Amino acid sequence: MITFAGMSDCIFCKIASGAIPAQKLDEDDEILAFHDLAPQGPVHFLVIPKKHISNIMEVEPTDTLLLGRLLNKAQALAQEQGCTEKGARFVINCKSDGGQTVDHLHIHVIGGRPLGWPPG
Ligand code: AMP
Repeated sequence: MITFAGMSDCIFCKIASGAIPAQKLDEDDEILAFHDLAPQGPVHFLVIPKKHISNIMEVEPTDTLLLGRLLNKAQALAQEQGCTEKGARFVINCKSDGGQTVDHLHIHVIGGRPLGWPPG
């Protein structure tokens, strides 16, 4: 389901609207990046569209430019956070099997340490 930004029961919509605080890294009209509350590495931030999209399965063809911008932002901030040389993990969890816990599309960027693969 895709709805307008500001879904009343969505924690990331509340962060996007400023209703609840977050450690913001970057923000523009469409996109917000903020540090994860429970970091899994020295670098761990989330990049979200301000518009509410529940998960990657709900993205529409009209969101193509937005998706590209989310990835560009994730890349640029990963570089700013010192991950250029050694890289990082760029993750989009989706629904229950994918381990998604917040139903608002987000890209995790986790870096600053080596990460294992495959996931458990
Ligand atoms: P996922 O499990 O992929 O849906 O990821 C949700 C992420 O959001 C988790 O890594 C949480 O630690 C993070 N998170 C939840 N609430 C907040 C919050 N208020 N501020 C920052 N990160 C949050």
